[in-house]
Amino acid sequence: MEIRLQKYLADAGIASRRKCESYIVEGKVSVNGRVVKELGSKIEPDKDIVKYNGRVVKNNSHLIYIMLNKPTGYITSVSDEKGRKTVMDLIDINTRVYPIGRLDYNTSGLLLLTNDGDLTYKLTHPKHEVEKKYIVTVKGVPSEEKLNELRKGTDLGVYKTSHSKISVLQSSKDKTKLKVVIHEGKNRQVRKMFEHIGCPVIKLQRAAIGKLKIDGLSQGKYRHLSKEELNYIK
Ligand code: URA
Repeated sequence: MEIRLQKYLADAGIASRRKCESYIVEGKVSVNGRVVKELGSKIEPDKDIVKYNGRVVKNNSHLIYIMLNKPTGYITSVSDEKGRKTVMDLIDINTRVYPIGRLDYNTSGLLLLTNDGDLTYKLTHPKHEVEKKYIVTVKGVPSEEKLNELRKGTDLGVYKTSHSKISVLQSSKDKTKLKVVIHEGKNRQVRKMFEHIGCPVIKLQRAAIGKLKIDGLSQGKYRHLSKEELNYIK
């Protein structure tokens, strides 16, 4: 299907449609090696090679970004040899997407799914340090001293954790609710951190990844990310 050149450029995130029109008129855009300055021009996204300032502009129209509020009792995988329910059972779209990172079977909350490999790399690579916020309920009442150990980063045996932010939200005789912000995603990290200080996790929910928040989305439901959310994470 043909679309207007300025829409193609805007959808690819180059700039607003208006701005992209200026770029075309200024001769900054080429199609199949030929500079195109006419605003009415249309292109075939799957066939034509579009360049802006000499660099190829990828066709992003097939890219999908979904936020799911994962319930407990689902595994974060595309399929499971044991026949357990997977997060894919909750998604009803006809494009192949896959989860970015993992939430344990017994963890609920924000999980992103996409078919954009570049974004997967960016969000899961430790060097990008995207913060992940968890709401955690643990058994017992951890002392400030123990929490400070986790805040500084600690050696859990299997691996060392980096620094984290932890605040107590609510506490009773036998359990404590906390907010935990980490910027890593090591295997069962939050559970292992609290096990390490003798307060095993009872309940774990991921509430946010960077500025993306799960608020307003019920468990088991999903939605596409908004333009603003995409601009932020990409
Ligand atoms: N940390 C965990 O221990 N489990 C998760 O699912 C996510 C973070």
